[in-house]
Amino acid sequence: MREILGQTKLAKHLAPLLLFFILLAVKGQVCLAETPAHALIIAPHPDDEALMSAGIIYRYVKENEKIRVIVITNGDAEGSVAGLRRQAETVNAMAILGLREEDIIFLGYPDDRLLEIVKTSDEGKVFTSVDGLRSETFGEHGLGRRDWHSFRFGTSAKYTKGNLISDLALVMKTYQPRDIFTTAAEDVHPDHSSTYLLVEEVLQRFHFNDVKLHKTIIHDTPGDGPWPNPADDSGVPERFQPESRFLLPPISRNTSLNQLRLERFELAPPLRVKSKRNLKLRVLQAYASQYSSTFNAYCHRDEFFWLANSEGAGESARPSSSSKTPTN
Ligand SMILES: [Zn+2]
Repeated sequence: MREILGQTKLAKHLAPLLLFFILLAVKGQVCLAETPAHALIIAPHPDDEALMSAGIIYRYVKENEKIRVIVITNGDAEGSVAGLRRQAETVNAMAILGLREEDIIFLGYPDDRLLEIVKTSDEGKVFTSVDGLRSETFGEHGLGRRDWHSFRFGTSAKYTKGNLISDLALVMKTYQPRDIFTTAAEDVHPDHSSTYLLVEEVLQRFHFNDVKLHKTIIHDTPGDGPWPNPADDSGVPERFQPESRFLLPPISRNTSLNQLRLERFELAPPLRVKSKRNLKLRVLQAYASQYSSTFNAYCHRDEFFWLANSEGAGESARPSSSSKTPTN
């Protein structure tokens, strides 16, 4: 009897302790499963993250704000080997800004195919890569050193609209971004415009109503044009003018973009230096397979976006110390 009483007493003492450890374990799991991102950069190809937002990424990293880069396609129009090389270039370039490889996610979908995939009404239709050799996601860099679907489920995903939508939706559910920065539907590159349509569809379909969506243009004309400034025929050496502001792409004047709120994010001093040490220049040069003097023309003292959903917006975009000048 005394022994039984003793065991009951012991159980009484142990129960709260056990509960404490269970709660701790559950809490730990929740933290592991959902590490919220304050911002997601959603890039169509490996290099767009730097062209449009190297300065914004740098600010977030420096201010210990969470940010993750999501790359939709592998940029593999020239084959899988080239695609994997481009993934590695993104990782190396982002490392210059202080972003960890674990904060980069490659969805692994096919280059030059996004518009067809996003526009299809058959969400189960399987597409192939440009060279016709692949029909499912792949990757060997970034989070988990593999593509997102393989990282989460152990197997790659067929190139279907349904998979693309659910993969991106899972990224958003996992990281719960406050702000998303991506390319605009007005960008003339089909992968860029369809990236916007994709993001917009995921936000609407899964009711991400509190996310602020910022969009920009990387390609104003299909070939060489007067933008990005300084243009090829401007006479500016190497098209490198990091101390001046971006002139807006001409296409923005003829579209509904000019009805939206324009945001200019002032870059930190290391990205405005007029020398080869310029941090954004060094980042862009890390994309060795893509780099040309055209990239230099994306080095300015600011980066610009339009706020796509200002009517539903709450607090202003971070990072807080960036200057944001609404103009027209
Ligand atoms: Zn691109």
